[in-house]
Amino acid sequence: MLDLTYEAPKPKIIQGAQSDWELVIGLEVHAQVSSKAKLFSGASTEFGAEPNSNVAFVDAAMPGMLPVINEFCVEQAVRTGLGLKAEINLKSAFDRKNYFYPDLPQGYQISQLYHPIVGEGEVLVEMGPGVARTVRIERIHLEQDAGKSIHDMDPHMSFVDLNRTGVALMEIVSRPDIRGPEEAAAYVVKLRQILRYLGTCDGNMQYGNLRADVNVSVCKPGAYERYQQTGDHAHLGTRCEIKNMNSMRFIQAAIDYEARRQIALLEGGGTVDQETRLYDPDKGETRSMRSKEEAHDYRYFPCPDLLPLEIEQAWVDGIAERLPELPDALKARLMDMGLTDYDASVLTAEKENADYFEEVAKGRDAKLAANWVINELFGRLKKEDHSIGESPVSAAQLGRIVDLISSDTISGKIAKEVFEIAYTSGRDPEEIVETEGLKQVTDTGAIEAAVDQVIADNPAQVEKAKQNPKLAGWFVGQVMKATGGKANPKSVNQIVSRKLGL
Ligand code: ADP
Ligand code: MG
Repeated sequence: MLDLTYEAPKPKIIQGAQSDWELVIGLEVHAQVSSKAKLFSGASTEFGAEPNSNVAFVDAAMPGMLPVINEFCVEQAVRTGLGLKAEINLKSAFDRKNYFYPDLPQGYQISQLYHPIVGEGEVLVEMGPGVARTVRIERIHLEQDAGKSIHDMDPHMSFVDLNRTGVALMEIVSRPDIRGPEEAAAYVVKLRQILRYLGTCDGNMQYGNLRADVNVSVCKPGAYERYQQTGDHAHLGTRCEIKNMNSMRFIQAAIDYEARRQIALLEGGGTVDQETRLYDPDKGETRSMRSKEEAHDYRYFPCPDLLPLEIEQAWVDGIAERLPELPDALKARLMDMGLTDYDASVLTAEKENADYFEEVAKGRDAKLAANWVINELFGRLKKEDHSIGESPVSAAQLGRIVDLISSDTISGKIAKEVFEIAYTSGRDPEEIVETEGLKQVTDTGAIEAAVDQVIADNPAQVEKAKQNPKLAGWFVGQVMKATGGKANPKSVNQIVSRKLGL
C-alpha cells in the first residue's frame, strides 16, 4: 500500500519581500495526442517530415473543405480523462476560436470552450517520500494545433510550415492548486508520466509535444484559504500567464522570477496587469507579450461544420476496462513487494523500467532484484547514456545473475564481474561463471587450506589479531585475495575466527 500523508499545500513564501506573500499557480498543459492522423483530417502527424508535405486540403483551409472527426483522437482524450479520474462528458461540442495568424489559414482554431469532452479530475503529486498533494483538474478539451512560422531561414522572407496544422491537442487545465515552483515541475512530471503510461501523448517536450502555459499570481496569507472555501478567484491576486514552456527547469525559473516581479510591483504601490508574458531563458526573465485577451475577444461560436459530439457510456466503459495499470497503482504494488518508496519511484518513472524490473523480480527476491536493476544496470546504462531498451543484458539474463547469487554459486562481488562481462560481451551468466572459473568455493577443505597458509605466512599478524579481534578482517581479506574472490565470505569469516581462536 502507498502510505501517503496528505499535506495541505505548503505555499512557497518569497524571501526578501517586505512582508509575506504566497504563490498561486495554475497550469494549462497542451499535450499532443498520440495519433497517426490529425484531429479532422487523414494527414500524417509524423514529426520532422518535409515542410508542408503532411497537409490535407482541410488543414490548408481550402474553400468548401469540411472537417471529419478522428474517432481515435476522441478515444485518446477519453482515455486521458479516465486516467486522471475525471468525469467524461457524453455530450461535448466544438467551437471556433477566431483569430488571425499567418500559420492558421482557417482564421480560427477549432476548440471546445463551452462543452469540453472531459470535466473535473485530479492528479496526485508526490513531494517526497510519503508526502502527496492533490492538484485538481478543471477540464480537458480537444483542439487543433496551429502551424509554424519560420523567420530565420531567409533575411528577407518568412516561411510557413503547415505540417503541424490540425494536429490534435488535449488542453489539460488545472485549478490554481499549485503553490510553488518545485510543485509546478513535479505536477508536470507526474502528468507526463501518466500520459506516457496511458499512451495518449509521448510527452516529448523537446519536440513541443508537451508544453505548458503557466499562470502565476501572488497573494497575502489567508487569501488562498478564502478562495478554497468559496471557489471565488476574486480572493486571489491578478495572474500573469507565461506562454509555451517546454522545460521543467525553465518552468521553475520563470515562476520564481515572475513571483518576485509581481511582489516588487505590489510593494512599490503598483498593480499587476493581467497579461500574457514570455520567458527568456538567456536573460532569466519574463517580458510582456500582450495584454490578456478575454474569451469574448475571440468571438467564440459553435462550429457549424461539426455536429455536437455524442459518445456512449458503453464505449467509455470499454476504454475504462482496457486502461493499463497507472503509476500510482504500480508503485503501490511494488512497495507491497517490499521495495522502498525511493526504489519504487525510480522503477516506475518509466513504464519500461518497471516492466524490466518485474521480469527480473518474478519468482525472486524483489529487494535483491531492485538493487541489481537500479544500482548496477541503471548505473551502467547511464554511463553510456543508454535507455533500458538498449540494455545489452536482458531481464532474463540479469534474473539468472540474481539466481547465481541467491544459490551461493557466486558472491555479490563476483556477480559484479559477471555482470560487467555479460554487459560488454552479451554472453550468458552461467557460461561466464563456468568458463572463467568464477564459481564460489564452498568446499570448506579448500578454504581451510587457504586460511592455514595465510596464518602460517603471517605469525606477527596472528599475535596482533589475538589481542585485537577486529584484525581478523585482514585475514579474511588475504584469503579472499588468495582465492581470487571466489571463497564464500561467510565460510571464510567462520574459519578464520575459529583458527585464530577468537
Ligand atoms: P481563462 O479562461 O481566462 O484563461 P481560467 O479561469 O480558465 O481563465 O484559468 C486558466 C488557468 O489559470 C487555470 O489553469 C487556472 O487554474 C489558472 N488561474 C486562474 N486564476 C489564477 C490565479 N489567480 N493565479 C494563478 N492561476 C490562476
Ligand atoms: Mg485559458
